[in-house]
Order: sequence, then C-alpha cells, then structure tokens
Amino acid sequence: MDEDKTKKFLVKKNDTVGRFAVVSENLKAGDLIFTEKPFAYGPKTDSPPLCLGCYNPVDKNLCSKCGWPVCCTECENIPSHKDYECQVFSNARVKFQPVDDPSAICLQYECITPLRVLLAKEKYPERWEKEIIPMEAHLKERRDKPIWKFNQVNIVEYLRGPCKCDRFSEELIHTVCGILDVNAFEARAPSGYLIRCLYPNLAILSHNCVSNIVHAIECQGTGDQDDFSVHVRAAVDLAKDTEIFSSYTYSLWPTLIRRDFLRESKYFECKCERCSDKTELGTHMSSLKCNKCDNGIILSTDPLDDKCEWKCTHCNFSTNAVAVKKVFSTIQAEIETVEMMSDSEGIEARETIFRKYRSVLHPKNAYMTILRVALSQLYGKAEGYTMEDLPDLILERKVELCEQLLEVLDVVEPGYSRIRGITYYELHSPLLILARNQYAAGMINKEQLRRRLQQAIDCLGESAKILKGEPSCTLEGQLYQVARQAHEQLSSNIDMLVETA
Ligand SMILES: [Zn+2]
Ligand SMILES: [Zn+2]
Ligand SMILES: [Zn+2]
Ligand SMILES: [Zn+2]
Repeated sequence: MDEDKTKKFLVKKNDTVGRFAVVSENLKAGDLIFTEKPFAYGPKTDSPPLCLGCYNPVDKNLCSKCGWPVCCTECENIPSHKDYECQVFSNARVKFQPVDDPSAICLQYECITPLRVLLAKEKYPERWEKEIIPMEAHLKERRDKPIWKFNQVNIVEYLRGPCKCDRFSEELIHTVCGILDVNAFEARAPSGYLIRCLYPNLAILSHNCVSNIVHAIECQGTGDQDDFSVHVRAAVDLAKDTEIFSSYTYSLWPTLIRRDFLRESKYFECKCERCSDKTELGTHMSSLKCNKCDNGIILSTDPLDDKCEWKCTHCNFSTNAVAVKKVFSTIQAEIETVEMMSDSEGIEARETIFRKYRSVLHPKNAYMTILRVALSQLYGKAEGYTMEDLPDLILERKVELCEQLLEVLDVVEPGYSRIRGITYYELHSPLLILARNQYAAGMINKEQLRRRLQQAIDCLGESAKILKGEPSCTLEGQLYQVARQAHEQLSSNIDMLVETA
C-alpha cells in the first residue's frame, strides 16, 4: 500500500497498554505522520434517517434497488452504499419502513455501519486480520450493559433475521459494534451531519488528555474520489521514538467529566499526566473558587479518585468530588441550553452564565474556557455584533477572551490545533481595529500604531501556519486561505497603513 511508504511511525507492543505508536524520526510541528482511508464508515448510532450516499437528510426519495433513503441516482451509486448494504437489502428484500419524524433517531439505521464493516471484512480479509482484529472491542465490559441488549435486538437479530446475514455470528456482530464504539472517529459529511469512520492506524494511538497530534479528515468526494481520508500531523515538535497520542474525549472538559466519559464509553480509567494533576497542568480547568475565604482555590485531593475530598488551599473548607461533579453538570446543562439559541441571543446568555459563575469557578475553569471559545467567535460575527458594530469596550473584551483562551489552549491543545488556529484568527481583527481607533483618537503615536498592527499581522501569520494542513473543503481550510491572504496583504501594506492612518 502506498500509504505505508510515507508513514512516519512504528507500532510497538507491551503487556500493560497493548499496541501503541512512536514516531520513527524527528518531526516538526505540522509535519505529516500518515494518511489513511477508513476501513469502513457510515451513520453514527442514534442517527436520523440520512441519505446513505451523502448523509443529507432525505425527504422521501428511496434507492431504486433496495428501497432505503438516498437523495438521487448519483447517491444510489456511491460505492459505500451500492457495493455494501444495498446488495444485502435488495437480496433479502428488506425495505426501509417510513418514519413519522425524519429528524428523530431511526433505529433501522443502527445496523448500517456494523453491516458495512462486516461486508468490508469479506471484501478485504487480509486487512481485517491485520488491522481490525487487533482493535479493542471490550466485549466483557459491554455484556452486562444496556447497550448489549439494544444491539442484540436492533442489529444482531435484524441482520441475522430479516437481512439473512446469518453467516455472521452473534459474537462477531457484537465484536464489530464494540470495535466501532471504542475506536471509530467522527467525521463531518458535506451535509454537516456527523458520521463515524474506522481508521486502523489512527486507532492504534493511545489516548492522552493532551494529544500531540492533530487529525484532519478530507470531505467526501464523488464517485471514486477520496472518501474521508484522514491526515495525521504532529501538533508539536516530536523527537524520534516519542509516543504519539490522540485524545478520545473533549479536551476542554474538566478531569471529572473527561474521566467519566472515558470510563463509560471507552472502558478505561485515564491516568494521564493531566488527569493525575490537581491543577490540570497549571490550567486550573477543574478548580473552583472558595467562597468561605478571600483567595482560596478548591482543589481535588486525589484527581484519580472520583469520590475524594476537595479542599480549599487557604482555609479549612472542604467538599467532595460528588458535589463538584453536580456543580459541573448544572453548568454544562445551562451551556447546552444556550447552544440552541440564535448567535446574538447566545452572546447575552453566555455573558449571563459567565457572570453568574464568576464567584464559583476559577477564572480558568473548563466551563469559563468553553464559554470563551463561543464568545470569542461570536463577537464580530453574530447579528448586531459584527466587527463594525462593536464599540472599543467590546473589542477589548474580544481580545481578552482570545488571550485568556490561548493561555489554556497552549497547555491542553498545544501546537497546531484547529482551535488555536481559529483563536489566533479571531484575535487579529479586534487588535487591528483597536489600533486604528486608538491612533485616530490620539491615544497612541505612529510607532505604537505600527507595533500594534504588526501584532495583529503576527496573529494572522500564526493562524495561517497552524491551519495550513486543513483540507480545503472544511471551514478551517477556508479560514486558512482567508488568513494567508490577509497576512500577505497586510504585511506588504503596513508602511502605507501607518502613513495614511
Ligand atoms: Zn445523497
Ligand atoms: Zn440501495
Ligand atoms: Zn487523562
Ligand atoms: Zn477557603
């Protein structure tokens, strides 16, 4: 396979963690480590009925061969449908049962991606042996969970019964479901809907709550073109033999929530350096403020124990992890409600949450950080809050949000991470406008103006550098083009900008 020639990692094995990967040469941040195509991909669990070719919501159109949702003949002929479930469904004459609410979860879709993996096993037996069998399926842990019964009814019995796929054993189908749940990565279809993809190499990387790689997924092409290939790059400089890690969880959640998620969905107890540190590597993403004394911070006494005591650093106030988790869940629920709002309503609502919890959470707490991500992007974009609308005070707020955010991201999403690239882009625009406004108001002189403009240009440069590897079909890939062009133009025009200010 041509992918193997360019890959810059080696797979190792040991008894405690199983397989893991190290880089095979010294790499610079941004360097490509490997590219690969998914072994199989398809709808996520809990998916609404989407086109089985392109994953757009479908109105009523059905595949002329199998009778399952597709949007058009072109989608009907996309190999991932035509050469996979389409044949099984047409041979067994299992039709899609119409649904009342096309936006609701559709149980008939649960079987699609597992079926595609099973059919890929038959098409590529060697890849299956070499790449998929070694993947963790955690059957033991899953057997007594509700997921087992759910899959038994909706996938195992459906495939082996009506779909006439009894050549696949119950055990094998459950194994495939486990492999998908534990190892699949999300990708965004051009429709905006998320699907899941099984990448054999990417799945080898162990988890760490601070990843040292970035992965970017190509969009779906048409026909035989590239389908959801993933590009894995070094996020930071990596010396030869450094282990590479991806993160299986959301990096901006606090430790208690990340570890819960990893335990529930990936079946392991994360003991990474970040999880083991009560300050989360100095970011204080889990820390609370003490309201019994002036400068106290409430920290976990043992971050790897989710029932331990949490104590104030200054007074003798103490609480426990269970109570802290409750606080986190409450805030998380409030933030989720806000995500349904329009952009401009969302700004006000987030600022309200921000003020409400300012006396409870450490300023760098994960939820303050999550609010900052949204606010830093919405100021300048939301209706009534475009860059031209914003008064200097709000422009300064946007600068502050971006800078505080970057302090945390530098630690938990270091190097060439998309979120850092976006935040640098967001930071450049208020810096640029504030510099001009302040010069116009006589608050700064020409020399200071030049320095401020240069600072904004440097942010653009940083943004372009970080986002350079993003596929051009993605929003980040498009942002890269914008940042690169603006960087070029401003760099070559800075003298004129200062002169004519
Ligand atoms: Zn389609
Ligand atoms: Zn079909
Ligand atoms: Zn961890
Ligand atoms: Zn205290």
